[in-house]
Amino acid sequence: MILKHFDELQSFLETPKNIVIVGHRNPDGDAMGSTLGLYHYLKKKGHNPTVVVPNEYPDFLHWLPGSNTTYRFDWQNSQSQRAIKRSEIIFLLDFNALHRVGSDMQNTLEAYGNDFALIDHHQQPDDFKYMYSDTEMCSTSQMIYHFIEKMNDLDLIDKDIATCLYTGIMTDTGSFRFRSTTSLTHRVIADLIDKGAENDRIHSNVYDSNSYGRLQLLGQALRNLKEVSEYKTAYITISDKEKVENSFKKGDTEGVVNYALSISGSVFAAIFIEDREQGIVKISFRSKGSFSVNMFARNHFNGGGHDNAAGGKSELSMKETVEKFVSLLPKYKEEILSSYEE
Ligand code: 5GP
Ligand code: MN
Repeated sequence: MILKHFDELQSFLETPKNIVIVGHRNPDGDAMGSTLGLYHYLKKKGHNPTVVVPNEYPDFLHWLPGSNTTYRFDWQNSQSQRAIKRSEIIFLLDFNALHRVGSDMQNTLEAYGNDFALIDHHQQPDDFKYMYSDTEMCSTSQMIYHFIEKMNDLDLIDKDIATCLYTGIMTDTGSFRFRSTTSLTHRVIADLIDKGAENDRIHSNVYDSNSYGRLQLLGQALRNLKEVSEYKTAYITISDKEKVENSFKKGDTEGVVNYALSISGSVFAAIFIEDREQGIVKISFRSKGSFSVNMFARNHFNGGGHDNAAGGKSELSMKETVEKFVSLLPKYKEEILSSYEE
């Protein structure tokens, strides 16, 4: 755990400030839950916070309280730039290095004259003036709870804050099932329910929002599933054509990789998603046990993440990308086979 200049940050926040809060590109439930949770808290403290989102986020997160106050850097560029210009500090949540916001927004942040405060659970964070980094944490949203706790403000947590933080913790832990979910996570969750988070509604808002197209795309993805049982590995491909045929919308492939990991005995899973617009194949990796997909993604696919959930990309064609992936398996055979005891 790294906690840097916290006391200084606490005194800085004693008087009202203009503040910008930023999450990573392609925001997920934890990025949106943590940024909006912090937004509601800072507003309650008398500050003037603005959440600036790098780009589009999935429809199933648009119901989050405060979602309609956010600026999208790609679409609402002048408003975003203005908010950044007048801010006296920028909070960076749920990512570890500035390039994770995308190159346009990265350039703007690199030219920023004031200080950054990073709150994040990813490995190997870059250095910023204020830091609260803990790679043992299941989610940045849980860290926002502990940040508010360190500020001695737990009694300020209301229904909106509790709802945002619950959502981020729920989505980043696969609904409280990943190894990163601890007894402390459950204590935090219990307190958030006491403070007004309606757990049944939140689950329903996030998970019962399938479109017909998304279910058809899932059907296609499952038909494309390949098992490499010799290496306890399974993977899924989704081509650009299959996305178009099934009216693909952002967020539709969220969680699909988990089906590959759900095959009995499977410990290493990947999903390859073609993105013709960007000219890349976007990859998500998942593992069970000690085999680190963070290392695998860093070493071979220009990415990173956590030990059991990481991502990366490839500029090769889909076919070549999958061939590269399969050809790497023998090199990791022992690590994969010994990763997880049933
Ligand atoms: P997902 O597969 O759900 O998109 O991402 C899983 C984890 O890997 C997340 O924590 C995410 O931040 C990280 N991740 C995904 N894609 C990339 C990438 O291209 N580069 C890096 N460094 N991390 C990634
Ligand atoms: Mn996260």
